[in-house]
Amino acid sequence: MIQNYTELVVNDLLSPVLEEYARRNPEVCTCPRCREDVAALALNQLPPCYVTSEKGIVLTRTALDRAPLKGQVVAAIVNAVRQVAASPRHGKGDHRL
Ligand SMILES: [Zn+2]
Repeated sequence: MIQNYTELVVNDLLSPVLEEYARRNPEVCTCPRCREDVAALALNQLPPCYVTSEKGIVLTRTALDRAPLKGQVVAAIVNAVRQVAASPRHGKGDHRL
């Protein structure tokens, strides 16, 4: 099975980064639709990193925990949150899906 490791890191960091950002910026929407938009926008800014096995994921996870990738992912998520907050797909103030 091929997985994009960058995607795993984004999924890992999406909730903590988004929630922390939303705490300081209450106008930011954290509904599932905006979350998805944020994840997609963040992934488009990041280089993919494909791994082929569970073992590969574990090894790469350890390696990348020490790499600057984590900071890069956090920066990409924050960027994406700002973009989505500026023009949410469902319109401002309307959080219905
Ligand atoms: Zn939303």
